[in-house]
Amino acid sequence: MKCTKCNEKAVYQGLGQNFCKNHFLNYFENKVFRTIKRYDLFDQNDNVCVATSGGKDSLAVLYMTMLYGKKYDIKFFALAIDEGIAGYRDNTLDDLRTFCEKYNIELHIVSFKERFGDTLDNIRDKAQNKKPCTVCGILRRTALNRAARELQATKLATGHNLDDESQSYMMNLFLGNMSHNAALGPITGLNLNDKFIPRVKPLYFMLEKETKLFALLKNFKVSFHECPNINQSFRAVVRDELNMIESKLPGAKNGIVNAFLEILPMLKQYYKNNRPFKICIKCGDPSANDICNACKLEEELIR
Ligand code: SF4
Ligand SMILES: [Zn+2]
Ligand SMILES: [Zn+2]
Repeated sequence: MKCTKCNEKAVYQGLGQNFCKNHFLNYFENKVFRTIKRYDLFDQNDNVCVATSGGKDSLAVLYMTMLYGKKYDIKFFALAIDEGIAGYRDNTLDDLRTFCEKYNIELHIVSFKERFGDTLDNIRDKAQNKKPCTVCGILRRTALNRAARELQATKLATGHNLDDESQSYMMNLFLGNMSHNAALGPITGLNLNDKFIPRVKPLYFMLEKETKLFALLKNFKVSFHECPNINQSFRAVVRDELNMIESKLPGAKNGIVNAFLEILPMLKQYYKNNRPFKICIKCGDPSANDICNACKLEEELIR
């Protein structure tokens, strides 16, 4: 297989074109830069907090934010959440520390233990009726938002890619949670309220396998192990089904996300009018209900 552009040996077969190493890296970086510009993900006055774990997606988004930040003079730093998942998160955090030292990137790490009083491993053992990913997702989102706010970030960049977005959209459809889809998209949380740091997704149009290849070709020191809890999640079911469909219908994930983006403005408008955000009476964070999900979990499981 040869590169469509230069006839060198191809390392990646995309939709309708093949890429050698150099052309693949150009393709990846140009596409991420285009996404940032098209959706105004960053601007010159931003202080971007990159949510990162040391996994391939988060190192790729951190690296791309660094490239963009250096080119356009935008401030950024890295923030990691240590959920307390023994034998997994400790390894990815080691990779992250090495990466940040190499590129001289400011890194902050906050843990579930210090923020919520316990590790995810312990909380999971206490909460047999709750899936670990549900608990983890709620507490991590809250910890990220609070820590980014304390560090005076104006944007929170995450490593979500096209696979994540198509999975989230389909999961919300299966679960009948259409209002949650209104909170997806390349940029979320603008004008919501000043306690919520807007979230941006520079890798929005990149496939998972493209991000993985990018991390490999860039020689990022990264472990490709998955969290031990992943297979208990509904996401893993949807992920496997979508991968199967994509293998039979290349471009299917793109199709899902592009169709979603067509209806996203209407969804946002509808839910803005019908489900205004509240403020949690316990912690003051933005919430859909009087008490936010993180405070409910803390009450139920931790305190
Ligand atoms: S797989 Fe689940 S438990 Fe593991 S880090 Fe992701 S959300 Fe948390
Ligand atoms: Zn080439
Ligand atoms: Zn709360």
